Amino acid sequence: MKTNLGAMELSELEEYFESIGEKKYRARQVFQWIYRGIDSFDEMSDIPATLREKLKESAEISALKVLDCKISQTDGTRKYLFELPDGNMIESVFMKYKFGNSICISSQAGCRMGCVFCASGKNGLSRNLSAGEMAGQILEVQKNAQEKINHIVVMGTGEPFDNYENVSAFMRIVNHEHGLNIGMRNITVSTCGIVPRIKSFANDFPQANLAVSLHAPNDAMRKKIMPIANKYPYDELISACKAYTEKTGRRITFEYTLIAGQNDDGQYADELAAKLQDILCHVNLIPMNPVSELSLAPSAREKAVQFMKRLRKKGIATTIRRELGQDIEAACGQLRLSKFSSLSPCSTQCEHGIIR
Ligand code: SAH
Repeated sequence: MKTNLGAMELSELEEYFESIGEKKYRARQVFQWIYRGIDSFDEMSDIPATLREKLKESAEISALKVLDCKISQTDGTRKYLFELPDGNMIESVFMKYKFGNSICISSQAGCRMGCVFCASGKNGLSRNLSAGEMAGQILEVQKNAQEKINHIVVMGTGEPFDNYENVSAFMRIVNHEHGLNIGMRNITVSTCGIVPRIKSFANDFPQANLAVSLHAPNDAMRKKIMPIANKYPYDELISACKAYTEKTGRRITFEYTLIAGQNDDGQYADELAAKLQDILCHVNLIPMNPVSELSLAPSAREKAVQFMKRLRKKGIATTIRRELGQDIEAACGQLRLSKFSSLSPCSTQCEHGIIR
């Protein structure tokens, strides 16, 4: 089997070159080529032809194949469907904002967290993505859209903290000056609340941004819609978030998807405000995006505005997320393990105690 150089950090690439009897500095040259977005060893013009041939024999830069790209008629958002070398399929979303270009990447093929309102977990988890497959989404979108990406949100399909090591390697690669050179402050990772990883993230990436999917003001309600709440109690989650803000000095974003008649009543805004009272935070309300097989409905706009006002009145900075790409099912929670995938989802017990 060929070694996939695209999944390696620079230090790993250096080890690889030494292991095949080559000079260490070749690693940096190859690393730079990969993140300039080249497709073949032949394009690496400062690598001698003999070494290029040697690399072709033993290594590859396995690229993602763009299978489909849908462009929103309302806001220009693009949703990409990629095929991975093993036939799995994943999606990414490219969005243009006033502050720059942003990409929402997937961290897993499928998801095993089972949040009831989200399409991404409907077929369970197929597998984790490698660091290279996460970075590859950015390289392919940059090439396809002919745009440079400045911001990354790890909010596509998958739970990033269920694939922590690979997500960490991915962040180091894209942040590296010879990689994509994207600042940690321009990277946001969103978790459903895997408490031990929130602690690791505060230590490992104090300059990156963290978003936590809360979606409820208490344990009882959270357990009904997010199975992960059975594993990590609400109070533990809130304490970990508070510790994160104290360690990093960074404001945490709490995501709260508003589901009609479930969690959108004004009293829940008050309850939530009380829980978040002394945390450096911001609440981002997301009126639930429609997912075809669900009977749940999004809260009305007026209800969302009321909820926001009530939180603000209690001193909690709150906004309503501007959802892009809804017409192409590219908005939050609408990405899924593609129904065209031929692989069956795995149904193992996960370390967080969720059985799918
Ligand atoms: N696993 C990560 C990333 C998921 S997607 C996490 O849970 O945070 C990013 C956000 O979209 C999460 O807050 C997620 O709960 C939310 N989301 C999922 N389904 C949604 C839907 N149908 N409408 C609105 N937001 C949704």
